[in-house]
Amino acid sequence: MAVRDVKLLSDGYFNIDTGLLIYGKTKYYGKVYKAALKPLLIVADDEYILVDTGFGEPPEKVRKFYALEKTPDLATSLRENDFSVDDISMVISTHLHLDHTGNNALFKSARFIAQEEEIAYAANPDRFQKLAYLEDTFKAITYEPVSGKSEIVKDVWVIPTPGHTPGHQSVVVNGIQKYVYCGDVCPLRENYEQRNIVGVLHNSVQALESIDKLRGIGGYPIYSHDNEQMSLKQNH
Ligand SMILES: [Zn+2]
Repeated sequence: MAVRDVKLLSDGYFNIDTGLLIYGKTKYYGKVYKAALKPLLIVADDEYILVDTGFGEPPEKVRKFYALEKTPDLATSLRENDFSVDDISMVISTHLHLDHTGNNALFKSARFIAQEEEIAYAANPDRFQKLAYLEDTFKAITYEPVSGKSEIVKDVWVIPTPGHTPGHQSVVVNGIQKYVYCGDVCPLRENYEQRNIVGVLHNSVQALESIDKLRGIGGYPIYSHDNEQMSLKQNH
């Protein structure tokens, strides 16, 4: 068994308009959602892998828009699970948005992995996505590109799930139980269960195809920002 354990961590919360999490429903416009930041720790035989690193400590000019609450922050969350930042040997980024790469600089011993297309896009995003990428979080990091569906270590797969961004990927873990870390394909349970696409989009058609791809895989879906799913024991 290559994957020994899977733990849902926390980097706290931030405020976001619910309309940016669920597309096209006017009932959500102007409604603030307390979005959870939920990196995943995968304990494998030879690797301690983090999927995404949360929001970290962005500069004030960014921070003031999001009402960040670091309770706990990611380093504390790791400690509470008897791990330290130096234990992490690999970080897999679903995509390079600022709320998924904010703590990257903490992980000095880690290799970083993202889809080739996402690495290229982050360096030169469309103007409507520019604010979602913060160069400080990824420019100094040497990302190793992967292209398409790949097994990163035994039983840990990345699969392309574009739509939210062009190079978004989700992570499938085949341990004792199958987990699917959706990333921002499905920030909330509603995205997955109702097939409602996320509100921040690069390509809405691909966004729906990606939801359906994840639903087709089955397993236990992990939603990137859902504040009601805060551990892997609840909501089976
Ligand atoms: Zn995102």
